Amino acid sequence: MPIPIIDPEKCSGCEECLEECPPQAIEMKDDVAVIIEKLCEECGECVDACPEGAITIPEK
Ligand code: SF4
Ligand code: SF4
Repeated sequence: MPIPIIDPEKCSGCEECLEECPPQAIEMKDDVAVIIEKLCEECGECVDACPEGAITIPEK
């Protein structure tokens, strides 16, 4: 699974994804969640955690 993408237009800043990310690879920047790519383990937990559907797995 590739590293997910967060759409800043859809992100509400709820921080649910930060709570659910096992390696804490997501941080808030200007009230929008951003994945720290070098920490991401590509588990996909954040995709399911986001209530706004802002996090998706990029198509290859
Ligand atoms: S895929 Fe997993 S490790 Fe990567 S940002 Fe999402 S929850 Fe964190
Ligand atoms: S769970 Fe979704 S809406 Fe909430 S901070 Fe993360 S990306 Fe943004």
